[in-house]
Amino acid sequence: MALIVQKYGGTSVGSLERIRHVARKVSAAAKNGDSLIVVVSAMSGETDRLIEMAQELCANPPEREMDLLMSSGERVSAALLSVALNSMGAPAISFTGRQIGMLTDAVHMKARIRRITGEKLREALDGGKVAVVAGFQGIDESTGNVTTLGRGGSDTSAVAIAVAMGADLCEIYTDVDGVYTTDPNIVPNARKIESLSFDEMLEMASLGAKVLQVRSVEFGKKYNMPIRVKSTFSNEEGTLVTSERKEMEEVVVSAVAYARDQAKVTVVGVPDRPGIAARIFTSVASDEINVDMIIQNTSAGGLTDLSFTIPKTESAKTMQLLESVVKEIGAREAIVDGEIGKVSIIGVGMRSHTGVAARAFKALADGGINIMMISTSEIKVSCVVSSGEIDRSVRILHDAFELALPVEERSFQENRK
Ligand code: ASP
Ligand code: MG
Repeated sequence: MALIVQKYGGTSVGSLERIRHVARKVSAAAKNGDSLIVVVSAMSGETDRLIEMAQELCANPPEREMDLLMSSGERVSAALLSVALNSMGAPAISFTGRQIGMLTDAVHMKARIRRITGEKLREALDGGKVAVVAGFQGIDESTGNVTTLGRGGSDTSAVAIAVAMGADLCEIYTDVDGVYTTDPNIVPNARKIESLSFDEMLEMASLGAKVLQVRSVEFGKKYNMPIRVKSTFSNEEGTLVTSERKEMEEVVVSAVAYARDQAKVTVVGVPDRPGIAARIFTSVASDEINVDMIIQNTSAGGLTDLSFTIPKTESAKTMQLLESVVKEIGAREAIVDGEIGKVSIIGVGMRSHTGVAARAFKALADGGINIMMISTSEIKVSCVVSSGEIDRSVRILHDAFELALPVEERSFQENRK
């Protein structure tokens, strides 16, 4: 008998009809003999609706209050799903984050999980019940305040619960039937990927693919908890995200990811001396702003320019922080360009194949696309392009690496290191 954690996203529980559908799936799995913990998101659109209401009352509502507000969406889904399950004769019991002992740090709206005590979950499972858990939320152990885990955080609740409870598998049910080689809305012939390594999925999630929250994949990787992403509305196998296997290296590029909501900040005329980068990024990091690509030019006449990318939503905050830093270090000014995005190719096969970056750059150049910044890791190449060219860049890269073809038919395979 297996212990499985299933997580259902907002669209999967978006109406009473859909909640009934999920309840039927869950009760069928329970009748199979598996022990089940089911984590749910808020009904689709609900979290946004709650945020908008608060913003109507106040342009910048206190984060502590936002957390209490937002956590209610998931509670509604959990209670309703449990009602539906019980009405079908499947014994179930619903819990909030606090009730299962989901303890986090104190950072409101993007809290990190510290540990999960899980007594109530164990009791429920021992009593033969399906445990239904409100995702996305926990409590700050020291104050008892409700915290939330950042947008998309129910994925992380699910994987963390799976780890804490020693589950065999974490299934993430969503409205697509797995992870694709890129967004099918941009490239209609994108392919579903059968399996991916944690590292690839981590890059994809950080680089804009919205199927899984980044932290959920970090948990999966750290504790080696396999994650299966699949559709609530079909019986397809979905995509398995798991530890790396040898044959994964055969695939040179697994996917193309993109992120639209990015901004590029440039600090111009920075004196080139020790400690300056530390000063700038200490200040930005102190406000939990997520800095990504960083480029510093070689200096001319003792002055240099330093650029980095951030989520666009953090632009105002970043520019405000930089105001005093610019004065303090004697730089000329800080400027922001909000009309940019990132496109990236990802694949563990890059470690063992040559010419991958060159092929990407050539394809973009042939398409007349200007690359503004580049960053690479062992398994990815990311380029900053102007916002208007993101979609076209994604199509170009997807074509260049023949991702619409089955893996065996792609022509780049033989280029081994
Ligand atoms: N309801 C939350 C959100 O929309 C959490 C989640 O769905 O995972 O971000
Ligand atoms: Mg989600």
